[in-house]
Amino acid sequence: MSLYDVIIVGGSFAGISAALQLGRARRKVLILDKKSPRNRASRASHGVLGFDGFSPLEILERSHKQLSTYSSVTIKNVEAKKAENLSGKFAIHTADGVEYHASKLILASGVVDQLPPLPGLKEKWGNTVVNCPYCHGYEFKDQRTGIVILHPEQIDMARLLLEWSKDLIIFTNGVEVDNEKISELQAMGGTIEAGLIKGLNGAGETIESVMLEGGKKVNLDILYLNTPVKMANSIALDLGCAIEETKNCSYLKVNHDGLTSIPGVFAAGDLADSSHSVSHAIGNGCRVGIAVSTPK
Ligand SMILES: Cc1cc2nc3c(=O)[nH]c(=O)nc-3n(C[C@H](O)[C@H](O)[C@H](O)COP(=O)(O)OP(=O)(O)OC[C@H]3O[C@@H](n4cnc5c(N)ncnc54)[C@H](O)[C@@H]3O)c2cc1C
Repeated sequence: MSLYDVIIVGGSFAGISAALQLGRARRKVLILDKKSPRNRASRASHGVLGFDGFSPLEILERSHKQLSTYSSVTIKNVEAKKAENLSGKFAIHTADGVEYHASKLILASGVVDQLPPLPGLKEKWGNTVVNCPYCHGYEFKDQRTGIVILHPEQIDMARLLLEWSKDLIIFTNGVEVDNEKISELQAMGGTIEAGLIKGLNGAGETIESVMLEGGKKVNLDILYLNTPVKMANSIALDLGCAIEETKNCSYLKVNHDGLTSIPGVFAAGDLADSSHSVSHAIGNGCRVGIAVSTPK
């Protein structure tokens, strides 16, 4: 069985960025990718230098095409199921029953949004129901904007959203929120809706209104929903990588080079960085790729 220098689990923004540096450094690289980047539902990705407003899938398609010119890099569209630390090298077992070995691993398999089972949400997610104003706020500036509060700390995000629109409705959805903060938001023009959310109305990806318990409809153009996320797979846990828990998420603990607590195992992108964005994933993928290819 041939030994790769590096296996990268995840071939999206972070993984491809790391692979580009490694390919240029003539390292033998295998990328395993299930082809489901986190922002795949969005028509446009914003805030990405040179690609502002491009479809995320188009950015990735271009990147894969450019990467294919590096002959030492192979991409396989298959799920990595399990990892083993074989002291000195690593084995990855894939869903099609194959085992691959490498001296180093880069985990770039991202996180998965845990969407609540709200009628209408799935079709609108990524376009009119979104999680980040830096990604989508500008396109909906000064429009009727809503935010669902999922835990008390999220009230601070409501304050932030006022930078994009003063026409803001805060759906507390049964969560107890600091009264002082509520009063402050109301004084700044925000409206509070305390009812439980029962569903989202509007054709296809467009949101028209939020439906509350009792049948009240609140009209909107965009809704922010900052859902919890979880790691896309258990590979980092199989390997014993240390993790950091926050309210919404768990991340792998990494140093400046992206090295996890396990020697030889690196991580990049959303999995290892709380500032979830395409640009951050590309940036830290690049740093990890260079760190992994530099002899130490
Ligand atoms: C709705 C939405 C919209 C967003 N819009 C923007 C935006 O406009 N601008 C912006 O900068 N950021 C945006 N983001 C954030 C952005 O999507 C992420 O920060 C970025 O995708 C992270 O890149 P990544 O490479 O770390 O992970 P991902 O892009 O999530 O890629 C992980 C890859 O790993 C693969 N994978 C997972 N498990 C396995 C496995 N076991 N085996 C093989 N492959 C595996 C997946 O299939 C996927 O291809 C948005 C996020 C969401 C949720």
